[in-house]
Amino acid sequence: MIDWSAHAASRTRRLKPSAIREILKLTQTGDVISFAGGLPAPELFPVAEIEDATRRVLAREGASALQYSTTEGHAALREWVAARHSGAGTVSVPDAGSAGVSGAGSHGVPGVGPAGASGTGAAAEVDGSWVQIVSGAQQGLDLVAKCYLDPGDTVVVAAPTYPGALRAFDPYEVRYRAVDTDGDGFVVESLEAALAAGAKLIYVIPTFDNPSGVSLNLERRHAVIELARRYGVPILEDNPYGELRFDGDELPHLFDLAPEQVIHVGTFSKTMVPGLRLGWLVATPDALAPVRHAKQAADLHTSTLAQMVAVEVAGDGFRDEHLLKIRDHYRSRRDLMLQALERHLGAGCRWTRPEGGMFIWLTVPDGLDTMELAREAVDAGVAYVPGHAFYPDGGGANGLRLSYSVATPEQIESGVAILGQLLRSTPGS
Ligand code: PMP
Repeated sequence: MIDWSAHAASRTRRLKPSAIREILKLTQTGDVISFAGGLPAPELFPVAEIEDATRRVLAREGASALQYSTTEGHAALREWVAARHSGAGTVSVPDAGSAGVSGAGSHGVPGVGPAGASGTGAAAEVDGSWVQIVSGAQQGLDLVAKCYLDPGDTVVVAAPTYPGALRAFDPYEVRYRAVDTDGDGFVVESLEAALAAGAKLIYVIPTFDNPSGVSLNLERRHAVIELARRYGVPILEDNPYGELRFDGDELPHLFDLAPEQVIHVGTFSKTMVPGLRLGWLVATPDALAPVRHAKQAADLHTSTLAQMVAVEVAGDGFRDEHLLKIRDHYRSRRDLMLQALERHLGAGCRWTRPEGGMFIWLTVPDGLDTMELAREAVDAGVAYVPGHAFYPDGGGANGLRLSYSVATPEQIESGVAILGQLLRSTPGS
């Protein structure tokens, strides 16, 4: 008999189950209102459009849709993705006032700000050769880590950050350097200190972050790019939620500001459906070359049929209409949750007010431990994800993530009421 655990490669010791999936298991028993998962609302899935598109694709080009295809991905889908980044490198910079930022350089980075950083100055010809299709953004994170991180390398991440990224990077035996964040994303001084200490990669979710819901403001986008350039560190920009904007001005992607410095990750998971497992990387062909080889070794290519169906659905204008519909849906859920928090939570609690995405970060009074409270909360009928899941090296005890994406209006009201009651009745609060 083989003792499989003794036989396993040392890197498997770093493979941990997702804390969020563990919480989700608890919510499957009984009548628990779940604010824990970040799932898209299933009633918004364009099932009929996907059914029609699948029929059309199979009738028109069934044999190629079911055949092996190229590692880089279906040409029409790559062109569709590339077209959304045309003009990268020359993105016009709105003035600081319109983006609600205070003034160039006010965060201590000399010469950085709307006036002093207008992109690379050279337009990048972003075409299909800049796009690698992947089986979900999650695979993109894994492949980039596989190609660009050696054991012992330091990855700079926000604290809190997306645990799925940490789990994707862990097996490459990396270290993390957590950067402080506030209501506008990375605190620039903290990022600079992290880069000065030596780093190989910056991982960031600049728009409607998971878990905090906050976005890097325009001035800080420029500051992050300036620092990344100065220290020669590439940026991995993860953008699953950017199109779910409810209010405020559009902000340029980091990639569109500095295409030579950034690997951008996109996905259909939150704007179409996650079950097709379709995402993409956008970066210079040089940056993508090793990733293509790693992708080939991992799974040869992403499902040909899924790619053809998705571009058929996305290509005919349907997706723009669909986006309006899903933005309205999530906006109303966000509003309801913010109103419920206002009504039910005590003075010692603070929370973010996201302009888009799916998440609110709640800070509870010091002394409370949201991990310890999680079990009690589930027993009382409500689930959230405790803050510590989002911190690479401890911390987050008085934070938690709430998702408003799948709960009904009634569930939002009663779930937040339960949470408020629990927090008020817990010693220490
Ligand atoms: N990055 C972030 C920040 C996410 O929240 C998620 C989904 N939870 C992913 C990546 C993975 O997305 P996909 O379904 O495209 O693999």
